[in-house]
Amino acid sequence: MRWAFSEVPIVKRLMRTRWLQFGLTACTLGVFVLAVLAGLFGTPAGNHNFGIVFVWIVWWALLMLMQVPFLGRLWCGICPIPAPGEWLQRRTLVQPRPGGRLYTLHKKWPRFLKNIWAQNFGFLGVAFFSAVILTSQLVTGLVLLGFIVLSIITSVLFERRTFCRYLCPIGGFIGLYSQAAPIEVRVKDQAVCLSHKEKTCYTGSDEGYGCPWLNFPGALEANTFCGMCTECLKTCPKDNVALYIRRPHCGPDADPGASPGRGL
Ligand code: SF4
Ligand code: SF4
Repeated sequence: MRWAFSEVPIVKRLMRTRWLQFGLTACTLGVFVLAVLAGLFGTPAGNHNFGIVFVWIVWWALLMLMQVPFLGRLWCGICPIPAPGEWLQRRTLVQPRPGGRLYTLHKKWPRFLKNIWAQNFGFLGVAFFSAVILTSQLVTGLVLLGFIVLSIITSVLFERRTFCRYLCPIGGFIGLYSQAAPIEVRVKDQAVCLSHKEKTCYTGSDEGYGCPWLNFPGALEANTFCGMCTECLKTCPKDNVALYIRRPHCGPDADPGASPGRGL
């Protein structure tokens, strides 16, 4: 049982405007820059340092206790870490390029890394050194800065959000837990996707970009790799994608009626 939340007219309008996501991302990026600066130049007293207090206590707690259980990967859609790289790829901040064109070297991500192992090892590394990262403001600042530099390099070399899909250690575990979230982006009718040859939700169009997470939305069966960026709600000319509120459950969609992508 699920309800297409994005069919509410005002929600639909909000999902289609590009300014909402840009505005929220700009806000999170501002806070992120402050956290990096506090890490690099702020007080070494951890309980007074904005970078340590905000990132590892406020943001982390909100992410774990509120965001992931109730909103799945919605955070990924406004995350500041991939934003500069993505803006560089798009060479625009808000309105899309014609045809959803991206400026990148279009290198292919190695086949043997097309899984979540790099993310798992990244998360393991952060956890292993957490005693240092969480207590040293300088290391916190350098780690956050390192994430953003890595995401920019990845955006220049590879297509779309390769960093989010295959490298981000936070995205890796958020993706797994978001499978249980009571929210999902899915197509409304599988048959419509089957008859739509252009598949602009994947390729991009004048309305927006092909799925940044490299998904074909019509085949989505779980939230794991969907960053809930709502790009496919903008690029589907058939109005065949929606943001649903659903019964929380674990793993791929259990109810065949709730997994229209199966078999595509
Ligand atoms: S989601 Fe929309 S754009 Fe994508 S294949 Fe289905 S109908 Fe086409
Ligand atoms: S499936 Fe749609 S909402 Fe999910 S990441 Fe791709 S474009 Fe964004």
